[in-house]
Amino acid sequence: MSLRQDGATALDWAERYLARVGDLPVLARVEPGEIRRRLPAVPPDGAEPFASILRDLDEVLMPGITHWQSPRFFAYFATTGSEAGILAELLTACLNNVGILWRASPVLQELEEVTLDWLAELIGLPAGWHGHLENGASLSTLGALAAARQAKPGHRVVAASEHAHSSVDKACRLLELELRKVPVDDVFRLRPDALDLEGACAVVATVGTTSTTSVDPVAAVADACEKEGVWLHVDAAYAGSAMVCPEFRWAFEGIERADSLVVNPHKWLFVPQGCSAVWTRRPEAFRDAFSMVPEYLRTPDDVVSFSEYGPELGRGFRALKLWTVLRCQGRAGLQAQIREGVRLAELFEGWVRDEPGWDLCAPRPFSVVCFRRDASDEQNEALLERVNAGGEIFISHTRLNGRYVLRLAVGNARTTEADVRRAWDVIREEAAR
Ligand SMILES: *Cc1c(COP(=O)(O)O)cnc(C)c1O
Repeated sequence: MSLRQDGATALDWAERYLARVGDLPVLARVEPGEIRRRLPAVPPDGAEPFASILRDLDEVLMPGITHWQSPRFFAYFATTGSEAGILAELLTACLNNVGILWRASPVLQELEEVTLDWLAELIGLPAGWHGHLENGASLSTLGALAAARQAKPGHRVVAASEHAHSSVDKACRLLELELRKVPVDDVFRLRPDALDLEGACAVVATVGTTSTTSVDPVAAVADACEKEGVWLHVDAAYAGSAMVCPEFRWAFEGIERADSLVVNPHKWLFVPQGCSAVWTRRPEAFRDAFSMVPEYLRTPDDVVSFSEYGPELGRGFRALKLWTVLRCQGRAGLQAQIREGVRLAELFEGWVRDEPGWDLCAPRPFSVVCFRRDASDEQNEALLERVNAGGEIFISHTRLNGRYVLRLAVGNARTTEADVRRAWDVIREEAAR
């Protein structure tokens, strides 16, 4: 195969895809098993030309793609694989470095150190924290809770709000820790007065919860943690990116007292999937939990390898795409994108507020609007299914105080005011049907 010729065709495909992705049905229109049935059950004996991959991508795979790159993707948390990030992924695969230890790729580790310092500065963290990248927030939180468990032997309880992400539940299950759910106030924030730290090794506070993007009171939780010597982990997987804008930093009040923090640049910072930043004030606790250096990886180099701070041995060169995106956007570019996402969500929120027969269901600190039709749960659920089946937009749902709630998340960098306006029109048209 020819890297130059086939590469040019692939790049051409990518450019055309991004130009037309807004016209494709956002949610894949296939039944479970349908894509699988269209694919041969056995691999080819002979080599096939690369062109046949692109052909099958169009003809066989495309119907099974839910278009996360669509400007009308408003479900879960909308993300963006930016152009800079896409090209960085190409170069990453080209270099194919494997960060098992420092000497296996000095640049993988040292670019990661520098880029995490940059990102810390961009989102207003104190200088000097130890940062590294994991594949996703689930692994970042697993790592942080493993460190917390190591730091307080004999204490096996983790406290987190009932609105904390399910990755906290999963980490506790894997680490054999007991998760104690803390009730929330009327706007879905953890209630510090309801924190019981008996037997606890960690508290997880969330800045930007998954259902409503509510913000737990980090400073008040830090007070309680400091009194009891309990590790404070802050999950800001989504909202952490917004901290590039000073006007959102209120949500990080008290952050300097956290023991660890996770922010996902692959969520709202325009970096392709597979890039979660975790910082800690106590790197030695991570090292205690994860360091494992067998004879065949021992070297005389006077340096601690990043694989000693997390569950992975072979680590990908994830920093390259983050570094590329930070440089190609710059602070001002990142701020402008975040502000536009929040502005569009605020517009949508205003339309819902002004429309009789519709209710807002939670405050909107960032770019996610929780709303519902003044109708039964079944009617709201049926509305969501009809809206998504139409293909023009894709939204998701949650449940608040037992009621079914629709959720519109702005976050794709290609989303315009016209896209958000169209979303509201589609939702109202379907509701009227
Ligand atoms: C998205 C999200 C996660 C999970 O992130 P992954 O990278 O998919 O593991 C965890 N916590 C919060 C608050 C999130 O928004």
